[in-house]
Amino acid sequence: AVFAQIEKQEKNYHCYISLDKERALKRAGEVQAAIDSGELTGPLAGVPVAVKDNICTEDVETTCASRILSGFVPTFSAEAVVNLEKAGAIILGKTNMDEFAMGSTTETSAYGVTRNPWNPEHVPGGSSGGSAAAVAAGECYFALGSDTGGSIRQPAGFCGVVGMKPTYGTVSRYGLIAYGSSLDQIGPLCRDVSDCAAVLEAISSHDTKDSTSMERETDFTSALTADVSGMRIGIPRDYLGEGLDGEVKEAVLRAAGELEKKGAVLEEFDLSLVEYAIPAYYTIASAEASSNLERFDGIKYGYRAKDYDGLHSMYKKTRSEGFGPEVKRRIMLGSFVLSSGYYDAYYLKALKVKALIKKAFDEAFGRFDCLLGPVAPTTAPQLGKSLTAPLRMYLGDIYTISVNLAGLPAVSLPCGVSSDGLPIGLQLIGDCFQEKKLIRAAYTYE
Ligand code: GLN
Repeated sequence: AVFAQIEKQEKNYHCYISLDKERALKRAGEVQAAIDSGELTGPLAGVPVAVKDNICTEDVETTCASRILSGFVPTFSAEAVVNLEKAGAIILGKTNMDEFAMGSTTETSAYGVTRNPWNPEHVPGGSSGGSAAAVAAGECYFALGSDTGGSIRQPAGFCGVVGMKPTYGTVSRYGLIAYGSSLDQIGPLCRDVSDCAAVLEAISSHDTKDSTSMERETDFTSALTADVSGMRIGIPRDYLGEGLDGEVKEAVLRAAGELEKKGAVLEEFDLSLVEYAIPAYYTIASAEASSNLERFDGIKYGYRAKDYDGLHSMYKKTRSEGFGPEVKRRIMLGSFVLSSGYYDAYYLKALKVKALIKKAFDEAFGRFDCLLGPVAPTTAPQLGKSLTAPLRMYLGDIYTISVNLAGLPAVSLPCGVSSDGLPIGLQLIGDCFQEKKLIRAAYTYE
C-alpha cells in the first residue's frame, strides 16, 4: 500500500533520495514470518519507515544530501536504526534533506528540492524536509529525522505532522553523521502524538558507543493520557513579539486557550536572552561543523575529484566540488570563530551565552511544567525565496534553537491552517527528561 502511494506521489514531492522496494518487500516477508510465529510483537512490527539520509543504514547509500558522500555505503547501521529494526520496522528508503542538515528548507540538497504536500509551490521546511513531507504525503507511516536547531520540529510544523526532539542523550547519535555534535539528536516525525511516543520509546536506548548517551527511563507510551489538569504552562512573551506572523500567533494562542479549558494553568512570562540564541547557535553549530566535516577529504568516503595534481590538490578539488555553498559558508564561519585570536571573542563567548540560556530555562522550569509557543515565525515559505538571504533564513530558527542549546526536549504539532492553506505548528518545550509531560500535554491538545 505504501509503495502504491509512493508511486503516485513521489514524482510530485520528491521526498526520497533513494528507495529500495525489493529490499523492503524481502524484509517485510521476514518480519511477517516473525509476527506469525509470535517471535515479534509490539506496535512497530511490520510498519514501514523512512529514514533521513544523514542516518547510516548498513549496505544502503547514505549521502547527507551531499555530492561529497555520493557512493558512500556504510558498513553499519545507526543505533536508532538497529533499534527500529529490532522492533520490526521496515525501512523504505532514505529521505531528502538540506545538505549535511544545514538549512531550513531542504533546498540546499544536492539531489533536488522536496515540495510541500500541502502546496507544492512551498518548501516542506528543513532540514528533515523529506521526512516530514513523506509522512504528510502518506509515503511512509512514520520517519526519522535529526534536530540540531529545529530540523525535526520546523518541517513537522510546515507539513502538518507531529515531530519530537528528545532530551540530548536520549537517542544514540552513533551512526548519525555529525553536524553539531553537542546539539544533534535523532527523533520521530509521525502522524500523531501516540505514534510519536511509540517510536521514541523504540529508538531510545543507552548506548556505550555514544559517550553522551544517557541511562534513563524510556517508557513514553504510558504518558498517553488526556489529562492536563493543574499543569502549569508558561508562554514566553518573547516568543510572541516582533516578527511573528499574525495568523500564526492567533493559532498558537487559540491552542493555549484550548489547553486552559482542559484544566492547564497558563501564564505569560519573560524568558530572557532569546535575542542571543541565533548568534550563539550559529557560532557553536558552525564551529562544530567545521571540525566534523574535516573528515570528508576524498580519501575515506564517497566522492573524489577526477583530475588533480598531488594530495593537496586532490583535497582542495574534492572539497570544492563536493560541498555546496551553504556547507562552505558554515565551514568558513566555523573555522573563523575557532581560529586563534577570535576563539575567545566568538566561540568562547557563544558557549557562555549557551550556559546563560540554559540557566534561563532552568529558572522557567522552576515555575512551569512546560512552555508553549510557535515553532516558526511564519508558515512554509515559497520555493526559491529563502536561499538568497541566508541571514533572514537563520532568523526563522528563533523559536527552535534555544532548545538545542539547552539540551531540552520539545514537540511540534499542528494547531491550525493559515488563510492560504498552509499548516501552523505549535511547540511545547519541556525540562530535561520530562518528555512524558510534553507527550501528555500534546496528546490532550490533539
Ligand atoms: N536551520 C538550522 C541550521 O541550518 C537547523 C538545522 C538542523 O536542526 N539540522 O543550522
